[in-house]
Amino acid sequence: MVERLEWGPWGVRALTTDGRVYPADRAVVALPLGVLKAGGVRFVPELPEEKQQAMQRLGLTDAVKLFFRFDQPVFPPGIVELYAPGTSLEEWWGNPLGPSRGIEVLTALATGERARALLALPEERALREALQALRQALGQPSLTPSRARLVHWRDDPYTLGAYSMARVGASEARRVLAEPLGNRLFFAGEHTAPNAWAATVHGAYASGRRAAQEVIRSTYLEATHRPWGLKPPQEGQPAA
Ligand SMILES: Cc1cc2nc3c(=O)[nH]c(=O)nc-3n(C[C@H](O)[C@H](O)[C@H](O)COP(=O)(O)OP(=O)(O)OC[C@H]3O[C@@H](n4cnc5c(N)ncnc54)[C@H](O)[C@@H]3O)c2cc1C
Repeated sequence: MVERLEWGPWGVRALTTDGRVYPADRAVVALPLGVLKAGGVRFVPELPEEKQQAMQRLGLTDAVKLFFRFDQPVFPPGIVELYAPGTSLEEWWGNPLGPSRGIEVLTALATGERARALLALPEERALREALQALRQALGQPSLTPSRARLVHWRDDPYTLGAYSMARVGASEARRVLAEPLGNRLFFAGEHTAPNAWAATVHGAYASGRRAAQEVIRSTYLEATHRPWGLKPPQEGQPAA
């Protein structure tokens, strides 16, 4: 896990929690917005004020997924998704291919206010309430799973949030976060994608392609106008 990223005209150096050091000419920073906002990786020198402000202008959505395993099929044959308006969890998904060997795993997703309400409960109670919603939606009051699990991303040190959301006034924030720094740091990740694509897999993928093209362009430009004589800081000396 990277805990520190040193960067400057000489290149970059990523330092990990287990003491490893990875030097490179350039780095693509594809850390999740939650990790960036929380300072989970220390940049030396710090990221410019404009980027830090852009980070703070974007928010993070809360999301919770609840998984229930049933040792028998639950949905009627051919049904893989359930929309249950009026219950506390409205959307449920099964395996798109149907139950496997008689086992059906159903997943519910809650975001925003609903997710926060579930996260405020002890896990067991949140699962119980969700199961109650499913029983109500299906009209099966004795439906009982063999296993149940709640997953969320708020406390996961590798995410610290589900995905980004733009608050009012943050329309430029993603563009600012995507901008490279000094031909050394390049930025990717769903939060750097254009607003219409942010918070999606395709947005993250497109941002990676954009960052890769920026790196190629920068490498070419540097090879043709090389600033000779720049050396990384000595071992044990801070970069700035
Ligand atoms: C519940 C949920 C449902 C979703 N549903 C959909 C959907 O239906 N469709 C859709 O398109 N998108 C969906 N998304 C959004 C989509 O998953 C994300 O937008 C996308 O995966 C983000 O990709 P990314 O590369 O930006 O970030 P990530 O995939 O999070 O990659 C960031 C990487 O950084 C690593 N990392 C973090 N900290 C460190 C560190 N200190 N050192 C080293 N590595 C580190 C992490 O381990 C991770 O590998 C959903 C997201 C959630 C949470």
